Amino acid sequence: MTTPGAAPLAPSRPLLGLGRPELEQWAEQQGQSAFRGRQLHEWLYAKGARSLDQITVLPKAWRQQLAEHPPQGAADWLGRSRELHRSVARDGTTKLLLGTADGLSIETVGIPAEGRLTVCVSSQVGCAMACRFCATGKGGLQRSLAVHEIVDQVLSVREVMGERPSHVVFMGMGEPLLNSEAVLHAIHCLCTDLGMAQRQITVSTVGVPKTLPSLAERALERLGRAQFTLAVSLHAPDQRLREQLIPTAHAYPIEALLADCRRYVAITGRRLSFEYVLLGGLNDQPHHAEALARLIRGFQSHVNLIPYNPIAEEEFQRPSPEAVAAFRRALQERHIAVSVRASRGLDADAACGQLRRRLEGELTTRSRSHSSP
Ligand code: SAH
Repeated sequence: MTTPGAAPLAPSRPLLGLGRPELEQWAEQQGQSAFRGRQLHEWLYAKGARSLDQITVLPKAWRQQLAEHPPQGAADWLGRSRELHRSVARDGTTKLLLGTADGLSIETVGIPAEGRLTVCVSSQVGCAMACRFCATGKGGLQRSLAVHEIVDQVLSVREVMGERPSHVVFMGMGEPLLNSEAVLHAIHCLCTDLGMAQRQITVSTVGVPKTLPSLAERALERLGRAQFTLAVSLHAPDQRLREQLIPTAHAYPIEALLADCRRYVAITGRRLSFEYVLLGGLNDQPHHAEALARLIRGFQSHVNLIPYNPIAEEEFQRPSPEAVAAFRRALQERHIAVSVRASRGLDADAACGQLRRRLEGELTTRSRSHSSP
C-alpha cells in the first residue's frame, strides 16, 4: 500500500547511525513531520527497537509504505542485525555472533566488570592485516562495516546483557584505520545519540602508513575534539621482530610508526597506549622489555600487556605468569606506565575472531556432511 501523493523513496542507507536532526530531515523528505523523526530517534536509541514494525507510534500506512522499499544493504529501515549465536562465559563475558543483511557474520563481545560494561566491537568483517597470532587474520577481509553495523553491536550487547555499556573498544574483528570514516561516524553516534563519553572509547590499530595524523585531524573536525583513546598494537620492541609477527609491518618501519604516534599526540593532546601481546619465549623476555622501554622512553604513553590467547591454527605459547610479572616489573623499573590485561571469558572463545572461525568450521563441516551422498 502506498500513501497517495507521497514522494518516491530515494534509495538510501539504514537509519541507525543518523542523529536527531538527520532523522527529522529524513522524515520530512518522506512527507512526514519532523516530530516523526524525533520519535524514530527515541525508538532507535533509547528504546532499542529492532524493526520498524515495533515502532507502533508511527502511522501504520507510512510503516507499510517504507517496508515495501527497504534501504540499500538492509532488510529493514532500522538496520539492526540478527543474533546468530551467543556464548556466555562463567565470568559473564558474552560473545555474540551477529548476522548482517548480506549474510556475513560479525563478532562482538560484552565484558562486564565492577561498575562497567565494555563492548568490544568489530570494524570490519574479517581483516586484511594477517597478524600471525590473530584468529581473525586467518580468513582475510570480507568487507568493512557500515556505521549502522557498528552501532548495532553496542545496542545488541545492551539488549542481551540488560545493561547500558559504559565503554566501547574497537578491538574486535578488523583494522579500524582501514574503515576510519565509518568508525568516526559511529563514535559520533555513540556519544551524541547513546550518550556515551568519548573518553570511554578506545580505537585500536596495528598501524596503517600515513593514517594517524589524518585520523587526529578528522576526529577534531568531525567530533569537535579527539578524546577517545588510541591504542597502537606494537607487540615488539624492534622492526625485525615486529615484521615476524605482523606481515604489514614490512611497509611501515617502527620509527615511522612512532613518529606518526608523536604527531597524533601533538595534534590531539591525548596520551596513547601501546598494546603488546606477550608470546611465550618469543617477545616476552627481560631484554625485550628493556628494549621496549628504550624505544618509548619519554613518550606520553601507557603500555597494556596482553598475554597471548591461544588460537587453533598457531603454535605460539602463552607466556608463563613469571614472564608476565618480570616483563611488567622491568617496564615499571624504567618508569613506564604499564598494566596487564586480565584474561576474560577464555571459555567463551575470547580471542579475537575465534568464535566465528569455530562456528564457521562447524557450519561448513555440517553442510559438507549434509551434502555428501
Ligand atoms: N586491528 C586492530 C584491532 C583488532 S585486534 C589492532 O591490531 O590493534 C585488538 C587487539 O587484540 C590487538 O592488539 C591484537 O594484536 C590483539 N590480539 C589479536 N589476537 C590475539 C590473541 N590471539 N591473543 C591476544 N591478543 C590478540
